[in-house]
Amino acid sequence: MATVQDIRPRLLMGPGPSDVHPRVLAAMAHPCVGHLDGQFLAILNDIRAMLQQVFITGNPLTLAVSGTGSAGMETCVVNLIEPGDRMLVCIAGVFGQRMKDVAERAGARVATVEAPWGQVVAAGQVEQAIRRDGPFKVVGIVHAETSTGAAQPIEPISRVVHEAGSLLLVDTVTSLGGMAVDVDGWGIDACCSGTQKCLSCPPGLAPVTFSPPAEQVIASRRTKVQSWYLDMNMVRQYWGSERLYHHTAPISMCYALHEALRIVLEEGLQARWARHARVHERLKTALADLGITYLADPEHQLPMLNAVRAPAGIDEAAVRRRLLDEHDIEIGGGLGAFKGKAWRIGLMGESATDRHVDALIAAMGAILA
Ligand SMILES: *Cc1c(COP(=O)(O)O)cnc(C)c1O
Repeated sequence: MATVQDIRPRLLMGPGPSDVHPRVLAAMAHPCVGHLDGQFLAILNDIRAMLQQVFITGNPLTLAVSGTGSAGMETCVVNLIEPGDRMLVCIAGVFGQRMKDVAERAGARVATVEAPWGQVVAAGQVEQAIRRDGPFKVVGIVHAETSTGAAQPIEPISRVVHEAGSLLLVDTVTSLGGMAVDVDGWGIDACCSGTQKCLSCPPGLAPVTFSPPAEQVIASRRTKVQSWYLDMNMVRQYWGSERLYHHTAPISMCYALHEALRIVLEEGLQARWARHARVHERLKTALADLGITYLADPEHQLPMLNAVRAPAGIDEAAVRRRLLDEHDIEIGGGLGAFKGKAWRIGLMGESATDRHVDALIAAMGAILA
């Protein structure tokens, strides 16, 4: 039988999870206490306050959903959508497609605007769709499309969405903690993220935040939220002063997120964004020397997720296997339209260092030679 003690450490440079700081791993090893123990409730209060700082928001309805990033996306959708509601979803990759699927399952009547993979959606496209097919209750979009490595500008779309009186839902699973995300400044009404990407905490929690107008929409629903587990009207009564039992909080994961957020704020958001940008440039320069090019538009490349073309005639999966087996380095393969054609190199959180870049480039150089 395998034992977890025998697991070899890797350099995690895929699309998540990213490397986890030893302080976060140590936090998870602390004794489990009860989910209504005052010591633990203090940890939850801190998590909310730190999430407000990291999301840059004053939203009172800010918490960490039990589940990974996908649960965060689902939470935002199912709480805002009632059967028959109209939702516009912007699709430029796998995660935009996922949002559409989630919205349809929640009973939304979904319209879409699409951009070619590697590009971003223009505000004008959203404006046209609203004029043609609107009004929409919610417009959903992915900030950092992890399948293509493209960074979607949010502010111009936010303006269009709010002029039309809709709510703006944004997936920041990959971007939060690695580049600017400004929930209040950008007018985001529902924002979801995950722990395992640039927050460098193991997968298992999904930070979410809702603006006061979104909170109002949730509180005045005519129908019950489609998901019992993700119903913010109930979950918030545990995170709030009522401390009403809904489901048992994942205690050790909350310890981990608490410590991970402390590390993020010790570094400072601006410094952390700058580090991701600098390390991304280092990787890009070194990849160019190997003749490897990016998939996303040059003006819209994510710092933390580098989606690149695998050189022609090379078995990209075999290269990834050798990186893992011989060098203990994990990178990701292409998703969807890019399957078999691309590598996705993550520089997220603790994995965004010069040391990671240099180790990967040395290993790739050796394998490709
Ligand atoms: C990773 C990711 C998700 C899903 O997160 P999981 O933790 O895998 O559930 C959702 N959206 C985006 C943009 C992602 O990168």
